[in-house]
Amino acid sequence: MIHFNELKAPQPSIDDVADESGDILDKIQSSQQLDDVLDSMQQWDRQRREVGTYLALVYLRFTQDTADQQAKAAKDESDAMRPRFTELDNSIKKALVQHPLRTELEQKVGTQMFSLWESEIPTFDPAIAEDLVEESGLESQYTALTASAEFEFNGETHNHSTIGKYREYADRELRHGAEKIKWQWFDEHGEELDDIYDKMVKLRHTMAGKLGFDNYVELGYLKMCRVDYDQQDVARYRQMVQQHVTPLGAVIRQKQAEQLGIGKTMYWDEAVYLKEGNPLPPEDYDTMIQLAQQMFDQLGYGLDDFFKLMTGGGYMDLQSRKGKAGGGYCMSFDTIGMPFIFANFKGTRADVEVFTHEMGHAFQGYASRNQPWLDYLWPTYESCEIHSMGLEFLTYPQMDLFFDDRADEFRRIHLASSLMFLPYGVSVDEFQHRVYEKPEATRSERHAMWKEIEQAYMPFVDYGDLPHAPKGGRWHDKQHIFRSPFYYIDYTLAQTCALQFWIRAEQDRSQAMDDYVALCRRGGEAPFQQLVQSANLISPFEQGCLEEVVRQSRVTLEL
Ligand SMILES: [Zn+2]
Repeated sequence: MIHFNELKAPQPSIDDVADESGDILDKIQSSQQLDDVLDSMQQWDRQRREVGTYLALVYLRFTQDTADQQAKAAKDESDAMRPRFTELDNSIKKALVQHPLRTELEQKVGTQMFSLWESEIPTFDPAIAEDLVEESGLESQYTALTASAEFEFNGETHNHSTIGKYREYADRELRHGAEKIKWQWFDEHGEELDDIYDKMVKLRHTMAGKLGFDNYVELGYLKMCRVDYDQQDVARYRQMVQQHVTPLGAVIRQKQAEQLGIGKTMYWDEAVYLKEGNPLPPEDYDTMIQLAQQMFDQLGYGLDDFFKLMTGGGYMDLQSRKGKAGGGYCMSFDTIGMPFIFANFKGTRADVEVFTHEMGHAFQGYASRNQPWLDYLWPTYESCEIHSMGLEFLTYPQMDLFFDDRADEFRRIHLASSLMFLPYGVSVDEFQHRVYEKPEATRSERHAMWKEIEQAYMPFVDYGDLPHAPKGGRWHDKQHIFRSPFYYIDYTLAQTCALQFWIRAEQDRSQAMDDYVALCRRGGEAPFQQLVQSANLISPFEQGCLEEVVRQSRVTLEL
């Protein structure tokens, strides 16, 4: 395996790519033999992997240092090229979808690829090429604006990522103070953020119109390639969360307040479950890496060797620093079949989740690297998050390494906060539905929408005297709302599946691990609900699924 520093992904010439795509398209359209079509598909697959690796590397470099002008210029350049690549790919996808040999091709390569393309094709037309470039520009604006934030707090300079560590501090005053400073920033930049978002919403609505949709919702679903469930399924799922998880949420917060010895949990208390503070992992980076290696050695199933490959090959950037974009993600370089993990360590239990969550993604990307087709390397997002959130639960026994005698506390806190995430996650989803259904809404109407939704799913949240958040502004802090429209319900669907992995592992750990690894290997060869069923899990859309998860959780949490 080559070291990350040696990975080269030169900027492709758009003309060369266009020429080669033209040839491939001609060959596909004129081929009457199955093997000839498959040969051309393979050539196209190689080309897409090269372009994809270039795009991934440029994006990674930009987020590693958003102040690096060269990286920014390279990203802008790649953003400008992206629609052209999409257009070229789309013409080939169209030719394959309409091919006279389609049935034979489907027998050979599976039907999922065709379903994905049928979802993707209507989402692009050259008429929106410039709009897409503008959209990436607005997304970069959001990223750069939030990454530029600096807070002086408690004798240290923080950014949006590092200030988050105070959320878990035992000292209530510090927690409160950190939240105040953070939300003060959002209050000061609220108009700017509203402005960016307003432009995004209107632009996305315009694109939907140009493509023949009533609004961006349907387009958003197609762009997410949700091929085996629809808006009605998602709406039903949100209702189930409200019905079963919201009441549990109120009870969790109540018990938490008792444990903290306070009358009521305020927003700044939410992440802390115990008076003496949450259990913390070691802060030292090298120690964390060593413990992670021990964890994967214990876990086995190939995760042990894979983690060595990731550390030895330099395929991780985990420490926070000035100018680095916030958040965490996992991406892949498909020419070499290696993933990369990007994160911002904070000195909280979330750091452990970088190893469990992002490693889940990375492991899947690696486990499915031998899938013959690019479209099957990764599944759609709601399935991707099962690998990551699932591993968070499957590594419960190994949490003793990080938390010693407080590992049990960690597990209970992780379980409680995983459940608490569901009402928040569906709020983020419903907000976007409402926003894009009414694109002409004013900025203050959008804030009112958020407040109303929050009341329905999370009536137990109290922002107290914090700036901005009580005015319906909390969503400003959710980067997905800006950068990845409709990418959020995915986390809640996956969490519902991950919780099932937890329940199953409690019953039979090795069978749960077998199913997990098999699921990872399958990559994206099937749609969400099929993948879920093949891993012996129940689809979150099925009545009773969430109810059972909540029932088991209540037993464990003694609620
Ligand atoms: Zn994830």
